[in-house]
Amino acid sequence: MIILKIGGSSLTNKDSSKSEVNSDSLKRIALEIKSSLDNSAKELIVVHGAGSFGHPPAKKYKIGEVFDKSEYPQKRIGFCETQNAVKKLNMYVCEAFIEQGLPVVAIPASSFMTATNKRITHGDLDSFNKYLEKGFIPVIYGDVVLDDELEFCVISGDQLIQYLAMNLNPNQVILGTDVDGVYNKNPKTHDDAIFFDKLSSLEELDAFEGTTNVDVTGGMIGKIKELLYLADLGIESKIINAEVEDNIFKVLENEDVKGTVISRGK
Ligand code: ADP
Repeated sequence: MIILKIGGSSLTNKDSSKSEVNSDSLKRIALEIKSSLDNSAKELIVVHGAGSFGHPPAKKYKIGEVFDKSEYPQKRIGFCETQNAVKKLNMYVCEAFIEQGLPVVAIPASSFMTATNKRITHGDLDSFNKYLEKGFIPVIYGDVVLDDELEFCVISGDQLIQYLAMNLNPNQVILGTDVDGVYNKNPKTHDDAIFFDKLSSLEELDAFEGTTNVDVTGGMIGKIKELLYLADLGIESKIINAEVEDNIFKVLENEDVKGTVISRGK
């Protein structure tokens, strides 16, 4: 089984205040996945981020922050707005995949997962296994869920990766984003950023600067933290650039692709 995440940064124009799909990138990624599955059968789960669809409403309504009882109706409508916004992006993603003949089925986190203090604590994955058995590709995405402590919270695609991988024990965990992997500082703003082809501890992150992208779920650092949890369980993952043509195809074919491997082994 392969769990593949496609970052919101590759699917949407994330810096835009409007919700814009990057249709060219989406189509190319769908084609690359299709080519690989045509080459050899694979069990695949796709996770995608929320990008410029989910972040604006989640930020506007401060989903995940503690609030006063009197604000409940407003927060709840914010939850609805965010859920609907990410659902729209998911529809575009599924549409592009189905156009290539990929048998995708959306399984939204908000419909079956709950969290406690922003961490997923419930989410029965039975339906994933059932759909996989029937040859479907389950698709799940960054979403809002009910939270036992905070009422509502945002669950990032990166946390979903961690939860799914921890519970389903895949052979490969791949995260496609819009940079080649992890650097000591943001490569988009620093020409001298140094690339890591392997990362095995948080201490190595000490020299990191914050992300420049607006990302309520923590950007690159959040991603690495999720992947280090997996590394602790012995599950290795790899961050690659989904915007480089053929990278997704190659990584699904187990060919060598530039990227950062996150594992506890040296
Ligand atoms: P996605 O939407 O693909 O999940 P994010 O936008 O959350 O990705 O995170 C990827 C972004 O993190 C990159 O576009 C990059 O600009 C930024 N970033 C910040 N710091 C770093 C770093 N040290 N190494 C790599 N990328 C970084």
